[in-house]
Amino acid sequence: MDEYGNTGEERAARRDEAVRGAVERGLLGPDAPIVGLLDVTGIRESARELRAAFDAVTAPGTPVLHAFAVKATPLVPVLRLLREEGIGAEVASPGELALARAAGLSPARTVLDSPAKTAAELREALALGIAVNADNPQELDRIDGLMWSAVSRSPLGIRVNPQVGGGSIGATSTATETSKFGVALRDEGAREWVVRAYLERPWLSRLHAHTGSQGIPLALMVRGVEETYALAEEINRRIGRPQIDTIDIGGGLPVNFASEATAPTYTEYARALKAGVPGLFDGRYGLVTEFGRSLLAKHGTIVARVEYAKSAGGRPVAVTHAGVQVATRTVYVPGSWPLRIAAYDGKGRPKSGPEVVQDVAGPACFAGDLLAEGRALPLLDQGDYAAALDTGAYYFAHHYAYNSLARPGIYGFVPDPQTGGVRFATVRDPQTLASIVAESGGAHVGALTTLHTPGSR
Ligand SMILES: *Cc1c(COP(=O)(O)O)cnc(C)c1O
Repeated sequence: MDEYGNTGEERAARRDEAVRGAVERGLLGPDAPIVGLLDVTGIRESARELRAAFDAVTAPGTPVLHAFAVKATPLVPVLRLLREEGIGAEVASPGELALARAAGLSPARTVLDSPAKTAAELREALALGIAVNADNPQELDRIDGLMWSAVSRSPLGIRVNPQVGGGSIGATSTATETSKFGVALRDEGAREWVVRAYLERPWLSRLHAHTGSQGIPLALMVRGVEETYALAEEINRRIGRPQIDTIDIGGGLPVNFASEATAPTYTEYARALKAGVPGLFDGRYGLVTEFGRSLLAKHGTIVARVEYAKSAGGRPVAVTHAGVQVATRTVYVPGSWPLRIAAYDGKGRPKSGPEVVQDVAGPACFAGDLLAEGRALPLLDQGDYAAALDTGAYYFAHHYAYNSLARPGIYGFVPDPQTGGVRFATVRDPQTLASIVAESGGAHVGALTTLHTPGSR
């Protein structure tokens, strides 16, 4: 049990009810063989835990913006739910900005980070008054040009790479020596360049770093923030006034994919930050955070029907409808991204019985399309359901169009005290075949046959 009295068991019980309810309601079945389910109660709890954790360590009155990293779960109803819980949005593309705006997030609660912002994106962000963190000197040049031609309300900062090192997963480590993000602070002359950039631009008021995502140990995340804070202090000292008034510490709290427990918690991270970087919390700096995975991962479940149960080389193989299209990282890099699998029977009830080592395969046409390989589970039969747990972030919301597999429907659920079951709401409709054809150039069917090289016929 955590300090709020939430147990993983309660979350698991809600999930079991939701799987049963989805089968009963026909959201899941022979003709809808895969869905994504979102636990609204759990999402609200995580948002509240995040806010409470930082409220507990900051001086009263400190402005704190928790901006959800939209890339983790780019779904408009999720952004709206988080907005209701006081959470803003961190966006990194025109698409993500459009989602945040569709969810009703105000510019004042939106932060734009991306390593490849176009001139048009920057112009729009500054016109709207959205906070922008410049990734590199060339981007700062572009912002300079825009600041000459108009006054913007946008809080502006620079993203630095504190180069404190990587974690256990290279692809999500952003503070390595050669990471593509931000100004690499320990490179020759870089620190001095950053200090001068602030000296020359009184409108630069923020400093940003995001040390990495899944796989970064807490101590390394704290080190990244420590380095960022030390730089802000140095800049303000050199300028002689508190020009940097807000530090954006990024996101990256890792998620425990091995069991039901939430670990580490926001409270643990906030306390570790307070212990390691006390000056950050004494009220001189506003704070921005950008958590993604840790807010949503535990609250999402992919549930897929077992279409066929077979055996190969003595190994049982459950062929399901969830594979690379919804669990891309797990399928391609299984060592770094293992998922827990839960077995349910054809009525959506948790399956018991002796555990059997088996493969849980996806529908895609390549041999590596496995959700889990050699996993001990109650034997999955035809018509049962396999659930991939902790998939609320960077999984079913991140469809990969391999084999033209349709994007599954996504439904949010809350317990229904009247029936003891759950109530559902549609978050995203299942993709139709017409939509797949349209996305695949259906409107341009003759485009290539009518394109002749002049004189070739
Ligand atoms: C991806 C990303 C985040 C969110 O990371 P999580 O591990 O999902 O918390 C935050 N900030 C930036 C700049 C990012 O690129």
